[in-house]
Amino acid sequence: MNTKTVQTSLIHSDYEAPGGFEAFPPGVHRASTVLFENVAAMRSGQWKDKSAYTYGLHGTPTTFTLEARLAQVEGGAHCLLAPSGLAAIAMINFALLKSGDDVLLPENVYNPNRELGRWLSQDFGVSARFYDPMVGSGIADLIQPNTKLVWTEAPGSVSMEVPDLPAICRAAKDKGVPVALDNTWSAGLALRGFDVGADIVMHALTKYQSGGAGLLMGAVITRDGGLNERLAQAHMRLGLGVGADDAYLVMRGLPTMKLRFEAHDGAARKVAAWLKARPEIAKVLHPAFEDCPGHANWRRDFSGAGGLFSVLFDPRYTEEQTDRFVDSLQLFGLGYSWGGPNSLVMPYRIRAIRSQWQEQGVLVRFNIGLEDTRDLIADIEQALARL
Ligand SMILES: *Cc1c(COP(=O)(O)O)cnc(C)c1O
Repeated sequence: MNTKTVQTSLIHSDYEAPGGFEAFPPGVHRASTVLFENVAAMRSGQWKDKSAYTYGLHGTPTTFTLEARLAQVEGGAHCLLAPSGLAAIAMINFALLKSGDDVLLPENVYNPNRELGRWLSQDFGVSARFYDPMVGSGIADLIQPNTKLVWTEAPGSVSMEVPDLPAICRAAKDKGVPVALDNTWSAGLALRGFDVGADIVMHALTKYQSGGAGLLMGAVITRDGGLNERLAQAHMRLGLGVGADDAYLVMRGLPTMKLRFEAHDGAARKVAAWLKARPEIAKVLHPAFEDCPGHANWRRDFSGAGGLFSVLFDPRYTEEQTDRFVDSLQLFGLGYSWGGPNSLVMPYRIRAIRSQWQEQGVLVRFNIGLEDTRDLIADIEQALARL
């Protein structure tokens, strides 16, 4: 029977595992090449509507499964994965913008998206304009005939303002301009983007979905088939495939995501409340606290909060002093990103990333992980003593 040489049989084995295996974890299908049954199947296979597999870049059962699960969490119909949150943002920008078009981004947008906007302006003939995140329905006055995309983020990165999403989305819809929402902070749990009128919802799965601080991935979710098709085209043209092992790891995180999110939320509010009572802290920029611009929008639209918030130190403290505070923390890692079990801290030079910034005092961002809050508060207390 086996007439192949050893070398060929190492590649073309005769053994096939029996079918009918069932388990809770989804299978991990790794592939660049996807095999077709025959030429007719190869010629008729469609990757765009996910009715067939054509190439690893266009999806495998593993990535399709993750996409479908994420779309369900957010209440969407379609989902596309990208190798990072930023790649998901780039997919949206390149799908919807071309030379001569205009895009509106909030002042407090995730900074690499601002950087991408600048690049589109400088080298691709797109105008990128930045708006006050608290503009609300006033966005209507900023929309031009060539405006093809409005970005929103809730709350905004670092400074944490919560925009009036329904007002912005309504105004944009009236003018026929799609709104993209970076919904990473809420993980699709504390806010469902389509409920407030967004057309495209983007997530950095790097954060709560993965939950382990061990991988990078992004997702773009839509309800509208036409929008999804444009996004899928950009996804294909830019080659934004993701690895099956990473997709599997994200799926492993999903069953516990809501429980983790609620634990982060409760812990962050405890730590933030403790900080608010301290004389060293001038303001707590946490959407659930009144100091935070847009707090009323958060109360109206959100059902919870994540583990991420910022504080402003009293202006009497210099950056040298607050840097000493950050360096004195033992349990808080100094690093970017968030959503994992470890608490993190990051000081920001906010004036370098915001053109309109009126507040005084150094801004420090906290990501509250899953440690016991008593230990976290004790750690912050000893570091405050070193100010
Ligand atoms: C982290 C983050 C991103 C980007 O995600 P990466 O996977 O790190 O590229 C985008 N938006 C927000 C709000 C984020 O916090």
